[in-house]
Amino acid sequence: MRSPLVVGNWKMYGCTDDVRSLLEGLCKEELPAKAGVAVCPPFPYIGFAQALLADTGIAWGAQNLCANSAAEGAFTGEVSASMLVDMKCRYVIVGHSERRTYYHDTDDLVAEKFINAQSTGLEPILCVGENLEQREAGETLAFVEQQILAVLDKVGIEAFEKAVIAYEPIWAIGTGRTASPEQAQEVHAHIRSVLAKKDELIADNMSLLYGGSVKAENAAQLFAKPDIDGALVGGASLKAADFAAICRAAE
Ligand code: PEP
Repeated sequence: MRSPLVVGNWKMYGCTDDVRSLLEGLCKEELPAKAGVAVCPPFPYIGFAQALLADTGIAWGAQNLCANSAAEGAFTGEVSASMLVDMKCRYVIVGHSERRTYYHDTDDLVAEKFINAQSTGLEPILCVGENLEQREAGETLAFVEQQILAVLDKVGIEAFEKAVIAYEPIWAIGTGRTASPEQAQEVHAHIRSVLAKKDELIADNMSLLYGGSVKAENAAQLFAKPDIDGALVGGASLKAADFAAICRAAE
């Protein structure tokens, strides 16, 4: 059974006061009993999230991790998978388009991060998605398939039993321009069919999230599509009421 899931990607936003009021606000909101809810704060605030969210049913995770499998070592500026586990993170985002674009996270590096996350028990949220040029050239499905296969061929289909995929068209991220439910559904169905060629049950159980300017106003239409199981939310996850409304729409 696949379960609905809504994850907030806070990116590089927030300070101690913001994090406190956002998380305290979220805890006061009515959240769905049957959909998973998680937030991914910047690294410095993960411990704070752990303290505030323990026993609330809201999970937390990170936006990135070190590709190296060492639990610790001389890797200045990096954060290991083991450290995230130590902070009781459940999820970690890998391959977000901002990391691919600004920090040269290649398909190979994304696969290494995916493997490293899973080896410690973290659930990777693998992000894929085309840019506007690729969409306009009709290359979306082939490009997204190649991004999935770049990881799948390295980790094997079984690894996707404990992973999440987020389809995030780059042209929709932070732009206010959401993919239509039909556009998103087409790609989600394709991703599921790519996985199904390897294992139908795993494909059927996989939670496929849509990301790209999801708001309270458009969430329900997106979630009504058969292959859209939730969302990875950027901007709208920074307001407790907006994020909670999106979470409720996922149930
Ligand atoms: C994201 O950063 O993953 C994202 C989807 O951002 P936004 O919701 O702001 O488009």
